[in-house]
Amino acid sequence: MIKEREEKLKKGQKVAGKAIWLEGFLVLLKFIVGLLSGSLVLISDAIHSASDVVSIITSWFGLKIAQRKASQRFPYGFYKAESLGALLISFLIIYASWEMFTKGYDRLFSFSQIKMPLLAIGISFLDALVLFFFGKYEIRVGKQIGAQSLTAMGEENRTHLFSSTAVLIGILAAYYRIPYLEGLIIIGISLLIFKIGLMATKNSVFALMDVSPSEPFKDKVGEAIESVPGVEEFFDLRLRQSGPFVFGETKVGIRKSIDVKRAHEISEKIEKNIKKKIPKIDSFSIHVEPFRSDFHHLVIPVRDKKGLDSFLSGYFGRAPYFLFINLKGKKIKGFYFLKNPYKNKSVRAGLSVSKMIVKQKSDILLTVEIGEISFHVLKDNLIDVYQVKNEKARKIINQFIEDKLPQLVEATRKKD
Ligand SMILES: [Zn+2]
Repeated sequence: MIKEREEKLKKGQKVAGKAIWLEGFLVLLKFIVGLLSGSLVLISDAIHSASDVVSIITSWFGLKIAQRKASQRFPYGFYKAESLGALLISFLIIYASWEMFTKGYDRLFSFSQIKMPLLAIGISFLDALVLFFFGKYEIRVGKQIGAQSLTAMGEENRTHLFSSTAVLIGILAAYYRIPYLEGLIIIGISLLIFKIGLMATKNSVFALMDVSPSEPFKDKVGEAIESVPGVEEFFDLRLRQSGPFVFGETKVGIRKSIDVKRAHEISEKIEKNIKKKIPKIDSFSIHVEPFRSDFHHLVIPVRDKKGLDSFLSGYFGRAPYFLFINLKGKKIKGFYFLKNPYKNKSVRAGLSVSKMIVKQKSDILLTVEIGEISFHVLKDNLIDVYQVKNEKARKIINQFIEDKLPQLVEATRKKD
């Protein structure tokens, strides 16, 4: 499982690496053509793309650093290095947007001297086309490996179709000396750069402050916890973002009667289940709390069908009927009978009956006697067994409610 995650990390890193080269090349091209043609719009768009590239470099660096093993000095790993790097770079991007904004303002009252309009337009068009398809690829891989940053980058790249159209209009506006338009477009692009910077600042500051992931993400973790058998409830679920990963902790309620070994097994299962279903989770700690349920679904082997006045059967596997009772707190909320279809089974009637009880989702069995195999089947399914005397059902239910019954820790007889 850890290997699978490492592979995903490597794949994400590879795509980010490709993006850096490709987009870096486009930035350079736009910058050079911008300088040669004298189009300030194209230069500002080159800076916009440079901000994109710089953001990818930080996330690529983040993924790289995330693969570094935690050390004794940094036991929680180096994930936050990404957020720290992103924060510093976001300031740089915001500064660039301000520079661009003032230049755009100046251009409201003057014109760029455009020399090679067709080349400038061609480059801008090429940029939009390449990034449109590369963005599609990034989104696909991002979804496949669950890397949100990659998907976001891909989506951003596809918006270049619009910014490149604006660049095209800006170049033509300068060439044909249409007033204000070039300056306005540069200001528009500077605002776009400002937005990239602002988002980067927000994301990195939030990550540095241990922001909790989105609600749907939290719900997914909750589902993974609840689906583990033996978990009665969970509360105080806390998650925190750390670079590209998430750390988490929760308290789970496990029935008081379950021993330490089983409780430990349950928490291991929770951890495994979470990491399997949500690969972004790096580590998860579980705090076990004793849980005393208010609801019980009791089962009692009985001799006859006389409601709560039915008399207990002296046998478990060969009892004629089973009485199932819903208990809430100290109140009986309802009951029903099931006929024992295995009563006359030649061997292992107890085992078949135990399976039937598991299916009915009982959590408590009150019985006079029980064999070893049956007892273990019930224990494995977290059903507690209490020993009772041959009485009327009503009486022993009251004894259970008053907590006066001894819980069995082993079968009453060796043979099943
Ligand atoms: Zn962009």
